[in-house]
Amino acid sequence: MTGAVMQFLGAELREMGGAGKREGNWRVGRDADGILWLVMDCEGGGTNVISRKVLEELNGHIADAEKDLPKALVIRSAKDGGFAAGADISEFKDVAADPETLLREGHAVFDRLAALKCPTICVVHGACLGGGFELALACDMRIGIRGASFAFPEVQLGLHPGLGGTFRSLALIDPIEAMTLMLTGKSAHTNKAKKLGLLDAIVEERHVASAVQTAANGQIERPEPGLKTRAMAFSPARNYAIKQMRAQTEKKAPKSHYPAPHALIDLWEEHGNDAEAMQKAEIDSFGRLLQTDTSKNLQRAFFLRQRLRGNAKGEDGIAHVHVIGAGAMGAEIAAMSAIRGKRVTLGDTSAEALGRAIKLAGEICGSKHLSSAEKRDALDRLMPDPDGYGITSADLVIEAGPEKVEIKAKIYDGLKSRMKDGAILASNTSSLSVDELAHHAHDAARFAGLHFFNPVSKIDLVEVIKSAQTSDDTAARLAAFCGAIKKRPVHVADYPGFLVNRALVPYMMEAMTLLDEGVPKETIDTAALRFGMPMGPVTLADQVGLDIGLHVALSLSENLDVPLAPVSDTLRDKVAAGEIGKKAGKGFYDWSEGTPHPSSDEGAPEDLTDRLILPMLNACAEVLRKDIVEAPDDIDAAMIFATGWAPFRGGPMHYARARGIDEVVARLRALEDKHGARFAPDAGWEALK
Ligand code: NAD
Repeated sequence: MTGAVMQFLGAELREMGGAGKREGNWRVGRDADGILWLVMDCEGGGTNVISRKVLEELNGHIADAEKDLPKALVIRSAKDGGFAAGADISEFKDVAADPETLLREGHAVFDRLAALKCPTICVVHGACLGGGFELALACDMRIGIRGASFAFPEVQLGLHPGLGGTFRSLALIDPIEAMTLMLTGKSAHTNKAKKLGLLDAIVEERHVASAVQTAANGQIERPEPGLKTRAMAFSPARNYAIKQMRAQTEKKAPKSHYPAPHALIDLWEEHGNDAEAMQKAEIDSFGRLLQTDTSKNLQRAFFLRQRLRGNAKGEDGIAHVHVIGAGAMGAEIAAMSAIRGKRVTLGDTSAEALGRAIKLAGEICGSKHLSSAEKRDALDRLMPDPDGYGITSADLVIEAGPEKVEIKAKIYDGLKSRMKDGAILASNTSSLSVDELAHHAHDAARFAGLHFFNPVSKIDLVEVIKSAQTSDDTAARLAAFCGAIKKRPVHVADYPGFLVNRALVPYMMEAMTLLDEGVPKETIDTAALRFGMPMGPVTLADQVGLDIGLHVALSLSENLDVPLAPVSDTLRDKVAAGEIGKKAGKGFYDWSEGTPHPSSDEGAPEDLTDRLILPMLNACAEVLRKDIVEAPDDIDAAMIFATGWAPFRGGPMHYARARGIDEVVARLRALEDKHGARFAPDAGWEALK
């Protein structure tokens, strides 16, 4: 235990007369006022997870409390990072094997806590997620330290709360708000949590002891729990709300792909007035959901994220970053680096671009829920630097200038005598050869690609691209830098389009070919959406910018030694007419009224979905054959976290395996016969059989 929590607990534990010693995953002791403190301090990690062991031990402590009733029981976390990250997902396989027994065991512990005949108080700092949130809900009261936030992320794993979160949250707060939290997985930050009634009080860390005293003495004023639920129980408003929720959920997460939110709505509809029945139904439903492919694949996505996090281990040795180019990418790279604690100087030849970048950084701070002090500190760390004074002291220079070799080469020339010893230069290029750019760099061993995705503030994946000369140390430090700014790096070798764009471009080019053939854009996009892509390829092309799309398509066509679809006439015409997509207000779609939401089956060829999806898979097989990435899991992780590739299908390579490699190859052959060589199955499939 370290830091702020320890400082406070240090005093508390001293008062416990040494009883606050570690017992398994908990530190336990009674203070001078007879208050029992159960402080969760999970072994072997910096984060608490609600594992079976944690619950078993908690059960024992509650049993002891029943025998010798304390004045109050307080549950809190010893970890600086927060209260708890949720259930232990690595145990879900065991739970799936016998959900009835294992879930009932967990429920019994929380029921016992809820029934304890003394006040039970949960003190929450930082994130309180999933099973941690459910533990907090089983207490009588919750005290939040500023910065506390609550969320039910189960829906992102193809599940809904399974340890009593459904009926307890519905009983405690406005049921519509509770359902919204469970259906969306969104966080309720401190003030919102108080407003909703999840928190009974908000205090500073140093006032926790007195807030606990007040709560233990029954002096915290709180609304009567369940009032709103009862008010809503028999009202027509509930039926109306359920109908609305079903329609909205179907739009965002169709039942055929994402059954969990629909199962949750069923639970509320059928048992919303009866907590006991709902508890039983929650257990049954959670057990069923655990068996679905959707949940298994979303759990897979969770572990893929961990895999990427593993790439970011180690020290980056980077305190100061100088970013060159304050455009769409550089501005956000600079802002995110400053927000995550790096000192940042930002250069650009345009004063307007620098002004816009600083304004944008302020907006991003807002969207990341930074407190006003954190925002001030982040903005203090970000310095506009039109003259490039920061270059001489930066540990890392990130170039995000225009996508032209000559311009980048000129920028690198200007850095040569100025960068300090050991400093790394990285380019955010999306389509130029890193090997070629390395020739212009100050030191090819300390040069690499660092490909962020647009918008940087929202997309976590970053490709770290090694040229033939990039040193291992440089690649490792860049990956560690990504981790330090909370991004997820994947190591990739230099290749046209690297990994993600190499896979994405054939999908978008096939969409353009279909447009050339006269298939309506809405029909093309609908097929991709039905497959589970977050956005159809035509909408995506508009969003990226048709000029950029055309440039990347031409560049890949020139540099790859496999056939691609011919670059579409419709695409060329649009670019020539200046209708280059969202940024121009018009591309294939009219963007004047926001993002289009196409839905149409009109004129869909029978092989439409395969024509869009299989070329992506084929490119992935090629990337593996060429050793551009280490393993199929890198591809799945990168495609899910960079493009939102149908996560409930577990990633493109997992989808290919699930469908059967032989069947994928046979289908590609059939498409090749019908539509041409661009569908020829890649030789890489052989090794995957
Ligand atoms: P942009 O045109 O929005 O920004 C480029 C900025 O560089 C401009 O503000 C410009 O004033 C500035 N600039 C031009 N010459 C300069 C110089 N000599 N010194 C300093 N600044 C200079 O471009 P962008 O979209 O941010 O792209 C930047 C890089 O990121 C490109 O290599 C691009 O391929 C790559 N990239 C872009 C995207 C995307 O979606 N936009 C995604 C991934 C990677």
